[in-house]
Amino acid sequence: MNFIKTFNYKDLIQGAAVTFKHQFKKTVTVQYPKQKLKPFPRFRGRLTLLKDENGEDKCVCCMACVRICPTQVIEIKPGKKEGRKTRYPEEYNFNMDRCIFCGLCVESCNFGAIKLNDEYELAQYSRKDFYFNKEKMYVPTPKVEYKK
Ligand code: SF4
Ligand code: SF4
Repeated sequence: MNFIKTFNYKDLIQGAAVTFKHQFKKTVTVQYPKQKLKPFPRFRGRLTLLKDENGEDKCVCCMACVRICPTQVIEIKPGKKEGRKTRYPEEYNFNMDRCIFCGLCVESCNFGAIKLNDEYELAQYSRKDFYFNKEKMYVPTPKVEYKK
């Protein structure tokens, strides 16, 4: 009986009214993973290497990204190529495991050779899959299917 006396019907009705009002509004959530939102243009996803219009590495191995990276996750082995005036990355290794997606590497690159892409499904089952060599840096991250 005490419970019924102290029950606040006004709050209950107010709460129900708020719930009812929102039934007719546009939903702001999506049914992930079936539905996916497109990230905003300045989203910081996985570090990616870029090529120029001739399909050549834009990177000239100035090492600015290597020096500025606070977690030291970029390693580059510079190389020389016949007919190319600048150096090119013979090897470009990136350890996403320790990347904090700060974007300093991209800001430091004066050659537009790298970007943080719009990928956000970056979970992996194995630690080795967080290591990217030059070939893997140019392609999207392989999608991992959930295993039971
Ligand atoms: S985003 Fe930051 S932590 Fe990641 S590689 Fe670039 S500089 Fe390093
Ligand atoms: S800053 Fe740009 S050009 Fe310099 S090494 Fe890094 S990716 Fe290459």
